[in-house]
Amino acid sequence: MNEPARRLLPLHAKVSSALTREARYEGALPVARLERLRAVTADADGSLQVELQLLRDKTRVPKLEGRVRGELSMICQRCLQPFRWPLDAAIDLRLVFNEEEESRVLKDSEPLLIEDDQLPFHAVVEEEVLLALPYAPRCDRDDCEPG
Ligand SMILES: [Zn+2]
Repeated sequence: MNEPARRLLPLHAKVSSALTREARYEGALPVARLERLRAVTADADGSLQVELQLLRDKTRVPKLEGRVRGELSMICQRCLQPFRWPLDAAIDLRLVFNEEEESRVLKDSEPLLIEDDQLPFHAVVEEEVLLALPYAPRCDRDDCEPG
């Protein structure tokens, strides 16, 4: 898969102005830059393709929505061989600005606590990818047998 060099996802955004503009962000995020994800993948090859948008929904609730796609190198828990696991995860987070609000919305949405008007894209994407990973990854090779 030879793709042209892609624009990198920015490190962070200033939430107040991004929300006003309903700003969209798009770019690549190399797996090698994400230490916690790197610790659970077989290698640091490749990068995630990320699309994100800050917006207010119909009821004026501030949100971060988007999608992250890519292929991660995982170890099959059955045959113990590495394989490429296709990631395609939706991001749908409700922005909250203090802990009281965070606990209040917890039961019907996934809150993201914003501090200092900053949205740290890399940390947020990494967290969402970690949540999307299979608990016990399995390859789909015909000869997959306990190793
Ligand atoms: Zn396997």
